[in-house]
Amino acid sequence: MTICAGFDSYRASPADMRVVTSDGQSIAAHSYILASASPVLERMIDRAQRGWGAECTIPVLGVSFDAVHAFIHFLYSSKSKVVPAEEEAVGANWTQLLALAHAYRVGWLKRAAEAAVSARLTPERAVDMLKLARLCDAPRLYMRCARLAAKEFAAVEQSDGWRFARRHDAALELELLTLLEDADQRNERWARERAAQEACRQLGQAMASLEHIFPGESGAKAACADADAPCARAGCTCRGLQVLMRHFATCARKMAPGGCARCKRMLQLFRLHASVCDRPDRACRVPLCSHFKAKSQMGKADKTWRLLVKKVTRAKVMSSMAERKVVPEVVAESWARYNRRGAKLR
Ligand SMILES: [Zn+2]
Ligand SMILES: [Zn+2]
Ligand SMILES: [Zn+2]
Repeated sequence: MTICAGFDSYRASPADMRVVTSDGQSIAAHSYILASASPVLERMIDRAQRGWGAECTIPVLGVSFDAVHAFIHFLYSSKSKVVPAEEEAVGANWTQLLALAHAYRVGWLKRAAEAAVSARLTPERAVDMLKLARLCDAPRLYMRCARLAAKEFAAVEQSDGWRFARRHDAALELELLTLLEDADQRNERWARERAAQEACRQLGQAMASLEHIFPGESGAKAACADADAPCARAGCTCRGLQVLMRHFATCARKMAPGGCARCKRMLQLFRLHASVCDRPDRACRVPLCSHFKAKSQMGKADKTWRLLVKKVTRAKVMSSMAERKVVPEVVAESWARYNRRGAKLR
């Protein structure tokens, strides 16, 4: 048995125990340091010290000598924190340190190891690290592996870990496929939400532009009455609307069976306007506003339409408030959040 450079020089008192590793080497150490750092080691030391005469020897097996040495080093450091130089020095041994910190219940070291392993994650190792995360009950590492596997599946599929799982570990393969499917569905849901939000934003803008083209007060001049002059209002979409309205006014197929797609769209916009319009009946000059208002009072709109009205109202309020010169802070903030959410989904 080789006795290796131990930790007896770390403290004034001489080392009173040895840690034996898988390859037969042993490391001299102080029992009170190890016992105070890990409840599991404390029990093992206590049991070993009750033996007859023999010196206190604790086996730490299943990992390399370097990993055990690094593990004991951290127990001695007792600063509950790993400095960058140490993190670098441990390098590839972090996976073994994660297992050791979990098995010997050293919480702070386990968290540090989990972060270090996550930082070194590659597609080739994702499946093995996922297995390790499950064994060591390390949820953050588990999520990182699952996300990486979903993102770079082509590379993960080439890894030995994945090939092994396919051949020998049906449960793990199933778990991985479920994780990938979940990620796919999440992406699809995000894309759908993003498209819906963008549509509402555009409709909200169209509603604000309609009110801009047809101002409420009877005496007010339409701000965008002249369809050929450029609109002074920032971000105004009234040009497109003007073109659509001119088409609507002259289209011969407006009432024909099957109808005209552009006219149908215009009618939908007028109907949507009537649903979000809060002007008094006679004060609104948007075409067909009072007609659609009267119609909506007769019958109840379906659920999808009501939901659309709610979302468009919100988008319209947001867009018109954000345009004002002096925007209350709370509005500016929530508009930024609204747009950020859209950008994040993009
Ligand atoms: Zn305009
Ligand atoms: Zn038409
Ligand atoms: Zn109206």
